[in-house]
Amino acid sequence: MPLERFMVLANAHYYATRDPLGVAGDFTTAPEVSQMFGELVGLALADLWHRAGRPAAAYVELGPGRGTLAVDALRAMRKAGLAPRVHLVETSPVLRARQRAVLPDATWHDAVGTLPDDMALLVVANEFFDALPVRQWQRTADGWAERLVTHRPDGFTPVAAGVDQALTMLPALHQAPIGSIVEDRPAATALARALGERLAEGGGALLAIDYGHAGGLVGDTLQAVRCHAFADPLAAPGAQDLTAHVDFGALAAAFAAGGARVTGPVEQGQWLVTLGLAQRAAALARAAPDQAEAVAVAYRRLVDPAEMGRLFKVLAAAAPGWPSPAGFG
Ligand code: SAH
Repeated sequence: MPLERFMVLANAHYYATRDPLGVAGDFTTAPEVSQMFGELVGLALADLWHRAGRPAAAYVELGPGRGTLAVDALRAMRKAGLAPRVHLVETSPVLRARQRAVLPDATWHDAVGTLPDDMALLVVANEFFDALPVRQWQRTADGWAERLVTHRPDGFTPVAAGVDQALTMLPALHQAPIGSIVEDRPAATALARALGERLAEGGGALLAIDYGHAGGLVGDTLQAVRCHAFADPLAAPGAQDLTAHVDFGALAAAFAAGGARVTGPVEQGQWLVTLGLAQRAAALARAAPDQAEAVAVAYRRLVDPAEMGRLFKVLAAAAPGWPSPAGFG
């Protein structure tokens, strides 16, 4: 089967059968590192909403995990005078139950098509796009071939399909040596385009925060994480988290093709510091001196270039009539 299909099936089973987050799980995300992350996301959206003239608006999150980001963002939004209805796009029943425990009044959706269409949407997607499936293409002596996955007695292994002549036409790929791998992400591109259209028509803004690159990368970025360590991506399908680096250039182009105005990407560390992370950390440390060291550790984890600060990036998309989002320099 295409690698893309393998990733769909493996992740659908993986997320449907467990809460993967936290120390006892497989990985930890920024909102699980510190409340400061969700608070600044909420304040960035509330600020934009104020400057857009305070229209009727809903808070939307794609893949909200445990609901931690939403809880922190909504608390900060309320202090800024914004109390939106909450709409969560989540496919996992296990994680929906976790979200319901902390956000009992939310409305859940399987996909973005059923989101409200009579108000502006304030959308957040943190570590969501990285879990959507990628296609991979490998250069052979004859041209570019899609990577398939087949099952052999010793496990799953990649094999090449027929050569796709159309790909050899991409100028950026002319210099790639034989054996090179490139990726694209049709599901993410289609979703971003649809969301771009939705923002352009009904108003609103979106923040996509994820690990990834600005585009044009040649290489295999598929990775599996289990118990906070990297694993073989083709081993144990459905029992480990499969992700690949997000191509922010492709994502930005898709939002723009839908009609939204795109800002960024900028590095997560720079974005958080511009929005006031240091001030928030100082306030938390003052309010609870026994937590000062933990706050300092969380701060470094979120902004240090060797931790999440540089690899993670923030991209904004907004309705064309909306003001520019803060935090992008
Ligand atoms: N945003 C959270 C969780 C990230 S893990 C955080 O930062 O902590 C990825 C999330 O996306 C999980 O909630 C998972 O169930 C959800 N998810 C994965 N694929 C999805 C899909 N195709 N549609 C909707 N949700 C999906």
